[in-house]
Formats: sequence, structure tokens, C-alpha cells
Amino acid sequence: GASTPLVEVNGIEVIYNHVILVLKGVSLQVPPRAIVALLGGNGAGKTTTLRAISNLLKGERGEVTKGTITLAGERIENLSPSDLVQRGVVQVMEGRHCFAHLTIEENLLTGSYTRSDKGEIAANLDKVYTYFPRLKTRRTSQAAYTSGGEQQMCAIGRALMANPRMVLLDEPSMGLAPQIVDEVFHIVKDLNAKEQVTFLLAEQNTNMALRYADYGYIMESGRIVMDGKADDLASNEDVKEFYLGVG
Ligand code: ATP
Repeated sequence: GASTPLVEVNGIEVIYNHVILVLKGVSLQVPPRAIVALLGGNGAGKTTTLRAISNLLKGERGEVTKGTITLAGERIENLSPSDLVQRGVVQVMEGRHCFAHLTIEENLLTGSYTRSDKGEIAANLDKVYTYFPRLKTRRTSQAAYTSGGEQQMCAIGRALMANPRMVLLDEPSMGLAPQIVDEVFHIVKDLNAKEQVTFLLAEQNTNMALRYADYGYIMESGRIVMDGKADDLASNEDVKEFYLGVG
């Protein structure tokens, strides 16, 4: 029904290397077409939460040992990362991860590996260039020679090539100048409004994230300690004192 979250995480625990309990019962909901921010400092567990949803924990020797994760009401814990891409769930990892020796356009095309329709791929590429005109300008440049902001845009653009309905965005502001962060978030907001892409974004930059998100969750030591509408969190005295100085 209308109230079914697109993604729902319910009481998950995550353990790394069979011993280190990192998520201690995390629950959150991402409504369809929302932008939800997952906030908190270094090591709070934001990346681990995103990896749990997109099933990228295995490579890190991590596993979900308790709780459930659903996509539009269906359990997804046992789907592989590429099954999840097929179902429209794509993660943009922290640190951008463009292929340094490929051009921007070649990087973008690697994002359509689940697609085979050439017309559709071309249309997706056009769409990415509409939202990221900078990438169009730089499309024949090797990623290694583009700016940090352009590489972040390239990483998001590559995710969009899979035609996702849900993008998990890990720390998009990392290492970028405030003006560039604004530009990236502005495009995220635009994609959300015009393409109905749902976003769950992990951010240490509380200020910026709350300016663009609809709803926020704050994590500390593997737990959600506070959540609320972005405007309410931004004006909350505790949030101001403990988090708004950050980033
Ligand atoms: P950051 O912004 O630094 O990425 P975060 O909030 O995303 O922080 P996580 O990366 O999820 O936090 O890390 C949560 C905890 O899990 C930290 O204590 C971290 O040291 C630990 N951790 C993360 N990855 C692993 C791993 N592969 N093996 C063991 N412990 C890990």
C-alpha cells in the first residue's frame, strides 16, 4: 500500500570477522521517493548499514546476524549485489571509485552492465549528461585527470546508468569544497524530484545533508540515537550542539 516503505531495515545486527559487533539493532525506513540522511561521526556504523542493505558485507568479512531488510515489502537479505542492481538498488561507495584509466564516458558505461538494449543505454547516458553537464564536457577525459567533484559526479552518474529506483550514497561530500558539495546535493535533489529516485545517504556533513534531506537518522556506536524530519533535526538543540559543527 501507500505506506509500505521502499526500504525497511528492522533490528539488524552486523558482526565483522565473527566477533566484532558493529550494528547493535538498527532500524530505519526509507519511504518511496524520499531523501533520507543517515548521520553520525566516524565509525558510527553508517557505511556498514548501507553495505548491509546492498549486501556488500561479505567482501568485508561481515554478516547480518539478526533482523530483516525488505525492499517494497520483500525480504532481500539473501539477494546478491547484482540481483539488487537488477531490482533497482545501487550503491555509490565512499571514496568515489571511478576507474582512473577509463574516460568519464567509459566509466559511465560500466554502470549499464545489467542492460543490453543499446537504445536504452544511449538514452540513459543522455539523461546522465542532462543532470551532470560537467560530465558531458569532460566525457573524453581520463577520470584520473578530472577533479574530485567530477569524480563524485561520475560515480553517481554510473549508478544512474542502471536506472535505479534507490541509490545508496556513501559520504558524497567527502573531500569536496563546500560549493561543489552544494552542486552535487543540488543534482541529487533534482534527480529525486524529476526522476523519482529515492536516496539513502550517509553523511558526516550534518548541515548540508539536513538541508537537502526529508528525514534523518543519527547514529552513534552502532545504534540509531535520534530520528526526525530534517527541519526538526536541524533546529533541535542537541543536534545543533553535537552535530552541526561537524563537516
Ligand atoms: P566512516 O564515516 O568512517 O565510514 P561509518 O559511520 O560509516 O564511519 P563504519 O565504516 O560502518 O562507520 O564502521 C563502523 C565500525 O565498524 C567501526 O568501528 C569500524 O572500525 C568497524 N569496521 C568497519 N569495517 C570493518 C571491517 N571490514 N572489519 C572490521 N571492522 C570494521
